[in-house]
Amino acid sequence: MSSPDLTDADRQAVQEVLNTPILSMGKHTPAFEKTFCDLTGAKHAVAVNSGTAGLHLCVRAAGIGTGDLVITTPFSFVASSNVMLFENAIPIFVDVDARTGNINPELLADAADNIDKYLPRKGKSKNAKLKALLPVDVFGQPADMDAINAVARKHDLKVIEDSCEALGATYKGKQAGTLGDFGVFAFYPNKQITTGEGGVIITNDDKAADFMRALRNQGRAPGDTWLQHTHLGYNYRIDEMSAALGQAQMQRLDELLKKREQVAAWYEARLSEIPAVEVPFVESSTTRMSWFVYVIRFDARINRDDIAKRLDARGIPVRPYFLPIHLQPYMAERFGWRAGDFPVTEDLGRRGLAVPFSSVMTEAQVEAVCAAIRDEIEAV
Ligand SMILES: *Cc1c(COP(=O)(O)O)cnc(C)c1O
Repeated sequence: MSSPDLTDADRQAVQEVLNTPILSMGKHTPAFEKTFCDLTGAKHAVAVNSGTAGLHLCVRAAGIGTGDLVITTPFSFVASSNVMLFENAIPIFVDVDARTGNINPELLADAADNIDKYLPRKGKSKNAKLKALLPVDVFGQPADMDAINAVARKHDLKVIEDSCEALGATYKGKQAGTLGDFGVFAFYPNKQITTGEGGVIITNDDKAADFMRALRNQGRAPGDTWLQHTHLGYNYRIDEMSAALGQAQMQRLDELLKKREQVAAWYEARLSEIPAVEVPFVESSTTRMSWFVYVIRFDARINRDDIAKRLDARGIPVRPYFLPIHLQPYMAERFGWRAGDFPVTEDLGRRGLAVPFSSVMTEAQVEAVCAAIRDEIEAV
């Protein structure tokens, strides 16, 4: 489905760490963090050992706790909602824009104004308070952050921008991740850059940055010794091998994004000619798309799962993208969500298929995938 894009220089960077005794809490973590301040202009970058850990620390720093409400999208990778559950807070879902798959800003505004209408059937608490918004930059395309921030200002809410799929994307010329109070990036091997496992939070909030640095390090506040823990914390530290790899990968970010743009263009040229296939829609506010995955949608008359099976049988790995969060078994059970609650999300979930995508794909490989899709559509 995807592949990391590694050079000898990237491997060498990791090897150099292994030639020293300092495998954690060394100089590579702050150097890696600095590449994010340089890219985004953010005042602080806090590196952690996954995107999920980063989102969780933002939830803690935003003061989101038991029973609090956070408006978010059901069309995302599940971690963006799980981090609320970690703190016994309640994700309030609103449906998405059918073209981009990003949270629908009009529904978001309505939900903030009329929160009672949007509460889940089960699991809500009395006197629950709306605390924050957590939009996701889906598939590498920034959410409509101006509209989202207007809602946040009106209701005095924190904004956590899940940019785990959108490193390097820009919205009206501004870097993804910088558009709310907190932004989070992730570096699993299918992301635009990789550290194996890893994540980075960016923010301009001095106090929150200190707090998140303490929390990632077992709750040790500045001045605490190794066995003093001011806060309830976690081990969310990134190791030095990962940070060094990330530092090397960040030097190549523009090159990596350009290669992904090229692969997306090869796909678009071929797939937009197939009438039963919709190719990704890029909004005019997206001044740079940071291609994360390439998700096509089939015409409603075509059985997506059938095509997926046929492609798989031909050795072409594909994946339905996304399965709606509100219908994941533990979510549906805890909050009483049902099929039909978020129809746009469910429709996209039924028709969407991620095709093989990475910066190392060749035009011949893209052509082979597209030819197989063409064949199988004709066959069904
Ligand atoms: C990748 C991703 C994350 C974080 O994933 P990790 O595997 O924890 O690094 C969070 N949100 C979204 C939308 C993602 O795509």
